[in-house]
Amino acid sequence: MSRKMTRIVAILILAAMLAGAIFSVRAGAEEYDETAQLLEETSEEVIAAAKLAKEEAWKAAHIGDGRTVVLDPGHSSVIPSGSVPLGPGSGQMKAADTHGTSGVATGMAEYTLTMSICQQLRDVLEAEGYKVLLTHETNDTAHSCVDRAKVANDADADIFLRIHANGSDDRYVTGAMTICITPSNPFCPEQYAESRRLSEILLRDYTEETGIEEEYVWETDSMTGNNWAQMPCTILEMGYMTNPEEDRLMADPEFQRVMVAAIAKGIDNYFAEAEPAAEPEAAAESETDAEEEPSAQE
Ligand SMILES: [Zn+2]
Repeated sequence: MSRKMTRIVAILILAAMLAGAIFSVRAGAEEYDETAQLLEETSEEVIAAAKLAKEEAWKAAHIGDGRTVVLDPGHSSVIPSGSVPLGPGSGQMKAADTHGTSGVATGMAEYTLTMSICQQLRDVLEAEGYKVLLTHETNDTAHSCVDRAKVANDADADIFLRIHANGSDDRYVTGAMTICITPSNPFCPEQYAESRRLSEILLRDYTEETGIEEEYVWETDSMTGNNWAQMPCTILEMGYMTNPEEDRLMADPEFQRVMVAAIAKGIDNYFAEAEPAAEPEAAAESETDAEEEPSAQE
């Protein structure tokens, strides 16, 4: 190789090295930019997450402030005798209360399950700052559906939540539903809008959190306790005790904690998602409570 050629080759090698160096510096700069951007985005995310956590903590500690929740554990081991008016002032009479259903696999009575859930739910809600009352503390006394509603009315409750489990002749039927009055309820139509909203939010959160299938919000004016309530009211049918799997699931203490947390979330969200709109009040009068529904008994 001549000297000239050697020089050219050397220059070419140097040029290639230089190009490589420039390229890698550029790549490095790009990488640096990307990293910086990533860091910036990450710190924004971290800040947003921290903010959210702070808000959640505040909500957990304060959402219940000043609010009264009355829980009605469905049924009792003692059935009250006689009948009661379907609603305030009503001449239509209904059985004061009914037996409820029982676990096809576990043999557990519905009232045992509903009392257990309500007692656990009271603890969770009280920790969030709610004032909580149960319509009855033990299952060895009789309580008509009118008496149950009167506990909520006397307490001037913000919501009246009635906890039940469902039963069906068909063992394959599964899922949860909520039950509220219709818009044309003859006793307390002014409670319809908020009762419907409570029913929807509770059913949504309960089924999302537990994985139990969502049936629907059943609107009916045949539930005595709902007709007597002077505040937003719903019945939660948590699942079917006549389905062996759902029965076992609801009897499992671990799963009950999930159910309780799910119901509490629904209650929190009902209040959190409240619109400033006014809710009317005043209840017409008519009577009765304690009717039997196709697939659910209050
Ligand atoms: Zn029931």
